[in-house]
Amino acid sequence: MRIVLFGPPGSGKGTQASLLKDKFGAAHISTGDTLREAVRNQTEVGLKAKSYMEKGELVPDQVVIAIAKEKLASVGDRGFILDGFPRTIAQAEALDVALAEIEKPLDAVVNLQVDDGELVRRLGGRRVCPGCGEPYHVDTKKPQVEGKCDKCGGDLVHRADDQAEAIRNRLKVYNFQTAPVLGYYESKGILKNIEAVGDIAEIQKTIAEALAQA
Ligand code: AMP
Repeated sequence: MRIVLFGPPGSGKGTQASLLKDKFGAAHISTGDTLREAVRNQTEVGLKAKSYMEKGELVPDQVVIAIAKEKLASVGDRGFILDGFPRTIAQAEALDVALAEIEKPLDAVVNLQVDDGELVRRLGGRRVCPGCGEPYHVDTKKPQVEGKCDKCGGDLVHRADDQAEAIRNRLKVYNFQTAPVLGYYESKGILKNIEAVGDIAEIQKTIAEALAQA
């Protein structure tokens, strides 16, 4: 299975990617997670990316394309789930070229649809474990011990880009720069639109059914 999980910030890409990864044994490639790790480790890429990320802007194409290619090269014969990449037409084109070279085209692009009001609610209440990436929510997915990750015991954080002003900017960036990528995949006939509001397990089931027809 080779898929892209697409959708605005807060649409549940990370949550659904993690479930799909377990189900299909595919690699989960999140450019956001890779960039956050680079920022934490203060690598050259991390230092370049930090200010864009904190403001909710896109990191330049050449930086993220290089990251995605490196990750894809390490996947081997397993399938992959791309989460948060591509986010621009230039990234989508670069991905097509890279996959054509290794003769492994995409099977499907799954678009998680959620309205803006719900996205703001989800992102504003989101807390995340910086250690293992597990997401939580102050209302809908509380950890067993307040402020601590159920999986690894790490201290949960409120990401800088989940603060109100950055959220507004991320949604604007999504609508202007990222949403046009949907047309690119629609014209290739591989786009699957999924209503991504409600029970996480139900959404996962709908995605699996859509993929079975891909
Ligand atoms: P995410 O966790 O996927 O929401 O990504 C967090 C932040 O990382 C985004 O707001 C961007 O600043 C940056 N980022 C992640 N993936 C990309 C991408 N494909 N293109 C540009 N910037 C990205």
